[in-house]
Amino acid sequence: MRNHYYAPGHITVATNHPPTEQKTMSKVTFPVDTGIFKNRTTLKDSYTPDTLVGRDEELEEYRNALLPVVNNEEPDNTFLYGKTGSGKTACTDYIGDLLKDACERSGVNLQFLQINCKGPNTSYQVITRLINTMREANNQISTSGYDEETLYQTFFNEIEERGGTTLLVLDEIDSIDTEALNKLFYRVSRARSNYLDEAKVGTICISGELTLRDRLDTDVRSTLCEKSIEFEPYTAPELQDILHQRTDVAFCEGALDVGVIERAAALAAQDGGDARKALDLLREAGDFARQEERDEVKIQDVERAEQEVRSDRIMQHIRNLSRHERYCIYALTTLHAEGEERPRSQEVYQRYKKMVPQDEEYSARTVRDYLQEFAELDITERKCNTGGSQGNYNTHQLRFDEEPILRALEETIAECGVHRSVGHHDFLRKKKDL
Ligand code: ADP
Ligand code: MG
Repeated sequence: MRNHYYAPGHITVATNHPPTEQKTMSKVTFPVDTGIFKNRTTLKDSYTPDTLVGRDEELEEYRNALLPVVNNEEPDNTFLYGKTGSGKTACTDYIGDLLKDACERSGVNLQFLQINCKGPNTSYQVITRLINTMREANNQISTSGYDEETLYQTFFNEIEERGGTTLLVLDEIDSIDTEALNKLFYRVSRARSNYLDEAKVGTICISGELTLRDRLDTDVRSTLCEKSIEFEPYTAPELQDILHQRTDVAFCEGALDVGVIERAAALAAQDGGDARKALDLLREAGDFARQEERDEVKIQDVERAEQEVRSDRIMQHIRNLSRHERYCIYALTTLHAEGEERPRSQEVYQRYKKMVPQDEEYSARTVRDYLQEFAELDITERKCNTGGSQGNYNTHQLRFDEEPILRALEETIAECGVHRSVGHHDFLRKKKDL
């Protein structure tokens, strides 16, 4: 289990360490949860709820776009767009099931070919994946070795052989690069005239990138987006409705304290109106309560879950900083470790110089720019002190615990050595000293 000690409501706090103690493991037990989760899996992404909350207008537009299919007519190509967690995939699964039922009842031959484009991102890979989705497991084609024209021909031949209507549902198409997208849709948009006689084909494209259409060639764009449906981010009250619906199946009665749902909805609304994030927060909050063998999830658990998500995101960011920016964070962390909660820019610069090989060090000005950037990224809190007897200066306080930051800096520490102020961390023991 990760060790974050977050005070509810605000971000912590690099503490001074307790002296290193000999850790002995007490007896491990696995108590069975009787009070928190009724069905934890229903809070995961893989679960599709029976009904959707608050998307009536979008579902109606979606249904209207697909009405030609049940009437055995050429479908309109439909384009769905909206930020992550706005219900695009959930609505597609829901509508897809209803459409398949309706077609079955009215004797329409429908093939609903759905793939996620996140993995395969060249047009070649997408087509191969589509072909293999249509085929039996023992008849798959290999993912290389064909020329592209043969592949497209194979693909449309199979669609023609099956007859009826094929809907190509391409989720997360924004993971495909622009050139590949144009190539793919150029062929698909000409399928009706170039490759197919009887069979009908239509596309449902789903994009999390709102401006993806602008990246497409004009004629591809107009064929692909015959109908567009926008999914707005959810508001806090809408997220509350979604969470209420889900908690009925996911949690035991009375497991959530008053205000838990509202808090999770508010935090997810602030972070882009993302239903997935709201559900993740509840699941993780439930996990905290269960791990601590409590029978109620508290608002503080939701806030702690939010801090973990935020912390994970920031640590990822730190890993991706440039080499000298990471030296600079390391310098700041060691000052904190010595009990200097708010070192000045000048102090950070002096410490940074100790860490960098001499012929490589950057100027004080560059380090000041870095420090400003860290505050903008919410890694630190920067305060300006003006007008005192010591003139104007800035101080910098880390917003996160020392340990996760040091873990994110492992590569930097391996390069320049372990500073004595952080040498007590077990995971740094084997590395060389500074
Ligand atoms: P997107 O595809 O836009 O990124 P999803 O459709 O995957 O978002 O939704 C994210 C999560 O939120 C899923 O677990 C989904 O079941 C749930 N969800 C989204 N919208 C609704 C809704 N209107 N009602 C109930 N659950 C929803
Ligand atoms: Mg999705």
